[in-house]
Amino acid sequence: MKIVKTAEEVRAQVKEWRKEGYTVGLVPTMGFLHEGHKSLIVRAAAENDKVVVSDFVNPTQFGPGEDLESYPRDLDRDAALCEEAGADLIFNPEPSDMYFPDATTYVTMTELNEELCGKTRPIHFRGVCTVVSKLFHIVAPDRAYFGQKDAQQLAIIKRMVRDLNFDLEIVGCPIVREDDGLAKSSRNTYLNAQERQAALCLSKAVKLGQQMAAAGEKDAAKVVGAMKELIEKEPLARIDYVEAVNGINMRPVETLDAPVLVAMAVYIGKTRLIDNFIIEE
Ligand code: AMP
Repeated sequence: MKIVKTAEEVRAQVKEWRKEGYTVGLVPTMGFLHEGHKSLIVRAAAENDKVVVSDFVNPTQFGPGEDLESYPRDLDRDAALCEEAGADLIFNPEPSDMYFPDATTYVTMTELNEELCGKTRPIHFRGVCTVVSKLFHIVAPDRAYFGQKDAQQLAIIKRMVRDLNFDLEIVGCPIVREDDGLAKSSRNTYLNAQERQAALCLSKAVKLGQQMAAAGEKDAAKVVGAMKELIEKEPLARIDYVEAVNGINMRPVETLDAPVLVAMAVYIGKTRLIDNFIIEE
């Protein structure tokens, strides 16, 4: 497995692979990899001859006052996990390798970025769409793998690929959780012991919402209300949002008719965590 820093090196490697007739899968990440990322890499390795993992804390998707500087980084650890999971190449650029200092071109989205995380992170999805477009152009993969953990991101990337005629398949992968239910996240490392315990209110709320929906409750306000009530009992938790939206266009829904995404962002202390569940057709 190789680790490279520049787009040119990635292109040269992929060109070699293409000569051999190999298919290529891409797993975009911000590094500090865990079992959630690993599940994407393992799936990519099962479905493609070669796998590229991008490991890049993308500055353009962080807003002012967010955790760009403190975001955890550990390339050696990431490399070991990638190797074990079956990756062939890690693309680990510096911001200066990815962005020209006078760059003026961005990929923006409308509508799908207006609810959920888009409300409190107004430039986030512009940064995501831009960096993911760049990665798609650099790697030119057959398939790219994204977690349902970031469900709004997954919906936005699918829409972007459709709208801009990117020639690849987007594969959504299920949320990987800790044994006690907490969704795995690089940001879980920010939590102290007390906060780690408090963070369970997210997955408990997901479970409650899923149970209500499975029992036939169709009233989105009732389900969201019960989930919020559960979270509000946790003194260290502060809700950013809990919302039920259409699973495709991300518009708020009143009735839980599939496809629906019920998603939340909750601060535990200073750490903003997300979780969700989907109601599929
Ligand atoms: P990140 O490094 O947080 O940008 O995540 C990179 C990719 O891994 C995204 O597609 C995420 O949705 C996915 N991912 C992160 N955490 C999980 C998880 N717990 N389960 C499944 N996928 C995940």
